[in-house]
Amino acid sequence: MQQLEALTREARALAGGMPTTAAETEVARQMQICNACRYCEGFCAVFPAMTRRLDFNKADVHYLANLCHNCSACLYACQYAPPHEFAVNVPQALAVVRGQTYSDYAWPPALGALYKRNGLTVALATAGALALFLVMMLAWANGSLFHAPLAGNFYAVFPHNTLVAMFGVVFAFAIVALSVGVATFWRAQNPVPAAPVEARASPSTGSGRTGMGGAAAEATSDALTLKYLDGGHGQGCNETGDAFTLARRRFHHLTFYGFMLCFAATCVATLYHYLLGLHAPYPFLSLPVLLGTAGGIGLLLGPAGLLWLNLRRNPQEVDVQQRPMDRGFIALLLLTSLTGLALLAWRDSGAMALLLAVHLGFVMGLFLTLPYGKFAHGFYRSAALLKYAIEKRQPNRLALGAD
Ligand code: SF4
Ligand code: SF4
Repeated sequence: MQQLEALTREARALAGGMPTTAAETEVARQMQICNACRYCEGFCAVFPAMTRRLDFNKADVHYLANLCHNCSACLYACQYAPPHEFAVNVPQALAVVRGQTYSDYAWPPALGALYKRNGLTVALATAGALALFLVMMLAWANGSLFHAPLAGNFYAVFPHNTLVAMFGVVFAFAIVALSVGVATFWRAQNPVPAAPVEARASPSTGSGRTGMGGAAAEATSDALTLKYLDGGHGQGCNETGDAFTLARRRFHHLTFYGFMLCFAATCVATLYHYLLGLHAPYPFLSLPVLLGTAGGIGLLLGPAGLLWLNLRRNPQEVDVQQRPMDRGFIALLLLTSLTGLALLAWRDSGAMALLLAVHLGFVMGLFLTLPYGKFAHGFYRSAALLKYAIEKRQPNRLALGAD
């Protein structure tokens, strides 16, 4: 029996692959040091997951990189951080590999590599080109960009079926690309069947939720509450020094729930259209407009705050090479919400068609680039949290960590 377990472990290590890039090898080196130290074990999920391993293969390194929230608590706590000769900087080392995983698992791979190299340019160029295309179509079809007020009737500019066809294609592409990426990531993490998930609660959280269902519920809750952005002590992340702040968690929440409210507004409007036969434009106090307005405000405040934090973040805590990619995503979110709110404010004016074309261009640009940057991290991170919740419910053969 013991021999079988040893063989299974060996197969798992081989299937996971040895670290191949310099960044992966650096994470494996630092994890060996952390595994001997373990001072940061209570900070986040990365360190308890680390204590279940003695070696770190490629899949392990990718898993830990996507478990990390880059809160930087472990950098400021570390006695081996630079200028110590061990040069342990876990947030930065994991950030480099995390950025690499966005393109490693991206589908199609060429788009992932392109976005990684020039995220800001690709995001803005895609959205700008689509907006320009729609504006030119408008000018060509109507002979002018301006018109008599249309009482906010978008379908007088772009017919309903044209909008459904355009967004159906873009939305389907984003869903397929994200699904393929996450499925590839999950397969790399689980190359051989995992040990059974025990019908027991998580020992480290004391959660009463058991088995696979409990693991899924715990991972969902941890992802939705951004649990590990509290630094492990509830006071938040480090941004520019050793002071804690919950600002990043708050701005992330505004962004995420703003996005979800906008998505909910679209779903409700679709139900109104097809189920109830109620066609847009909807009044300002109708459910789709209220949801869209609240979501737009969240998507304005959240990304603005994240951009402000990004601009002043201590470069030692991050991978500075990824800044164009991060800022490209934040810029598109900001421009999407700004143009959406402008469209709502001036929907009964002669500039509505122009505002609509620009807004639609930015929305399509956002969805086309979603699978390649920070947004994809939300999905890889959720998959990593699910793996972590499952692992905690499996026997720990090493029994060296807190769980
Ligand atoms: S980051 Fe530093 S203090 Fe924390 S576990 Fe690793 S070596 Fe120890
Ligand atoms: S940066 Fe934060 S989330 Fe990442 S390993 Fe360190 S303590 Fe954990």
